[in-house]
Amino acid sequence: MTFIQILLSSLKGMFPEVLILSVAPLIPFIVAEQIWPVGKAPRFRGYGMNIVISLSTVYLSLPLGIAAALWNGQLRPFLPWKPLSLTFHSIGAVPFVGPGLELLAMIFVPLVLHDLWFYWSHRIEHRVPALWAFHRIHHSDERINTSTWARDHFLQNSWRSFFSIFTLGLLVDLDLSEAGKAALYSQMFLMALSMFYHSAIRIRLSWLDRVLVTPQVHRIHHAVDPVYHNRNFADALPIFDILFGTFHRPGREEFPATGLGQEFPPPRSLWSAQFGPLIAVWRMLLPRRRTRHVELRQ
Ligand SMILES: [Zn+2]
Ligand SMILES: [Zn+2]
Repeated sequence: MTFIQILLSSLKGMFPEVLILSVAPLIPFIVAEQIWPVGKAPRFRGYGMNIVISLSTVYLSLPLGIAAALWNGQLRPFLPWKPLSLTFHSIGAVPFVGPGLELLAMIFVPLVLHDLWFYWSHRIEHRVPALWAFHRIHHSDERINTSTWARDHFLQNSWRSFFSIFTLGLLVDLDLSEAGKAALYSQMFLMALSMFYHSAIRIRLSWLDRVLVTPQVHRIHHAVDPVYHNRNFADALPIFDILFGTFHRPGREEFPATGLGQEFPPPRSLWSAQFGPLIAVWRMLLPRRRTRHVELRQ
């Protein structure tokens, strides 16, 4: 199948599923946020804006995801190394605990690989101004809530998924019949976890803080106070923050205010969320172009 055929059939096949999957699971978290909020309860207008940005991002970042899988397949025969072969069947054959272990491996093996990549790409996005111009859309939510989980710019989403599909496919060779299942299980787990840890529920889970990202741990990452900046980058597993020295374990009553304050007010429309960063990056590059032009003329 050509790129266009794959793109069109993916768009057609995704329509009702994406809408249902990205809205329905939010409902229990929204109810909990309205009953036990951290500070003021999130506004329904805020939920709506986040959902609209998330849905547009899913569709707009699809072409690069498909391109990554196609290019990966074309490059494979020419690799000077053999991708590591991974199979979950053998784990399932262990007596008694086998099926449970197989499910856990299907969730956590892709998750560890994903999170290692996510940790560094996320850390770089906070460092490089042109990448921060895209990622700050996610951080600009003044009242972080469950629907913030997918409030991302489509280009940020594209480069994250492009490189993870492209690079992981060159290193690991999953049995195709298992790859789809493992991707589905780990993505469903990650989606539920991300909706949960973005939620503005006043809940403290100190026993879990160092195993999985919790609402308090991720709230630190979204804090407006610079004291907390560049902490807790991981998407699911705080072990990467602990290993690379960026973990901040929240204290008992540590539920800081979120957003970017004066630095960047939240965009008011879908247009300014998706196109604003493109204009910002263009402006970042413009002064240098002008300077060079002046230098050339002299
Ligand atoms: Zn961030
Ligand atoms: Zn976040």
